[in-house]
Amino acid sequence: MMDKNPYTEDEEQASEYLRMAISLLSKHQIPLSPLNYRMGYDFVAGKNEALRMAFAEMVAQSDKAPTESLWALYKRFFIQDDEKLAEIRQGLVSIITSMRGDFERSSGNLSSYTEKLSQFAGILQTQTSPEAMATEVNKVLKETRATEQSQRQIETQLSNITNDMESLRKELAQVKEESLVDALTGISNRKAFDATLEQAVHTARETKSPFCVLLADIDYFKKVNDSYGHLVGDKVLRFVASTLKRCIKGKDMAARFGGEEFVVILPQTELSGAFTVADQIRKSIASGTLKDMKSEEVYGRVTISIGVAQFNASDLPNVLLQRADQALYQAKECGRNQVKMAA
Ligand code: GH3
Ligand code: MG
Ligand code: MG
Repeated sequence: MMDKNPYTEDEEQASEYLRMAISLLSKHQIPLSPLNYRMGYDFVAGKNEALRMAFAEMVAQSDKAPTESLWALYKRFFIQDDEKLAEIRQGLVSIITSMRGDFERSSGNLSSYTEKLSQFAGILQTQTSPEAMATEVNKVLKETRATEQSQRQIETQLSNITNDMESLRKELAQVKEESLVDALTGISNRKAFDATLEQAVHTARETKSPFCVLLADIDYFKKVNDSYGHLVGDKVLRFVASTLKRCIKGKDMAARFGGEEFVVILPQTELSGAFTVADQIRKSIASGTLKDMKSEEVYGRVTISIGVAQFNASDLPNVLLQRADQALYQAKECGRNQVKMAA
C-alpha cells in the first residue's frame, strides 16, 4: 500500500517532466493514455529504477510497444494491494445488497403467509360446513407450498452466498500474504521486515537476549544489468534471495530491503555467530556461476558484501540498521565480497 506521496516535485519541475514524458511516449508511438503517461512520467523523473529498466528494455525491443506489453508493465509496477482490496470490497457490497433484497422479499412472503394463517383460524371458527372447510384447507395448502418453495430458494441463495463469501475470504488472505512478499524474489519484503525487526527489538528488550542483523548488497550489480540486461539482473536477485533463504533457519528471517539490497534478522545470535552465518552466505553466493540457461555461456561470478550489527538495548531499529550499513560500507571499501562487523 502506498503510504508516502511519491510526487512531491514543484510545479515547474512537474511541468518539465510532463513535457519530457509526452515527448518520450510520442517518440515510441505510445498512446497518451493515463496509465502510459504515468509510466512515462515515472520513467523521465527516475521514480523507479526497476521500472525505468523494464520500460527501456521494452522500447528497445521494438519501435512500437504493443498495448498488452504496456498493460503488463503497468500491472507489474503500479497495481497495488489497494486496488485488489477495492475489488474485494466491491464484491462484498454486492453480496450484501443482493442478500438484503432476498431477505426482504422472503420476510414479506412469510408475513403474508402468517396473515393468511390467522385468517384461516378465524374462518375455521365461523365456517362449519365440510365443503367450506375443505376449500379453506386447500387454500392454506397452496399458500404453504408457495411459502415452502420460496424458503427453499432462500436456502439455495444462502448457500451461494456462503460460497461467494468463502472465496472472498480466501482472496483477502492472499492479498494479506502478498502484501508481505516481494513479488520478484518471493521472499519477505520491506514491510514484512520492518514489522519483524520491530518485534525482534521488543523481544530482545524483554528477554535481554542478543540478536543481529545482516545487511547485504550485491557487488557491481549495475554492471550485471548494463552488460546482460535487467532480466539477467532479476535472475541474479532471485538467486541471491534463494541462497539467503537456504542459509538461514528457524526463526531467522531474510527479506529484500529494496533494489539489490537484502537483510537478514538472526534472533538469539551473538555477533560472532552472525558473522559465521554471513560468511556462509557470502561463500555460497560467490561459489555459484552466472550462466545463460540455453547457451550455457558463463557470464561470471556474483558476489555480495555484508555488514553485520548486533542490537544494543538502547538501539532504535534504524540505528541498528545504520550500524549494519556502516559495516557494509567498510566491506565495500575493503574490496567487496567480504563480511564486516559493526564496531
Ligand atoms: P556496489 O558494488 O557499490 O554496490 O555497486 P552497484 O553497481 O551494485 O551499486 P549501485 O547502487 O550503483 O547500483 C545498484 C543497481 O541495482 C542500480 C540498478 O541498476 C540495480 N537495480 C535496483 N533494483 C533492481 C531491480 O529490481 N532489478 C534489476 N534488474 N536491477 C535493479
Ligand atoms: Mg546498493
Ligand atoms: Mg550494489
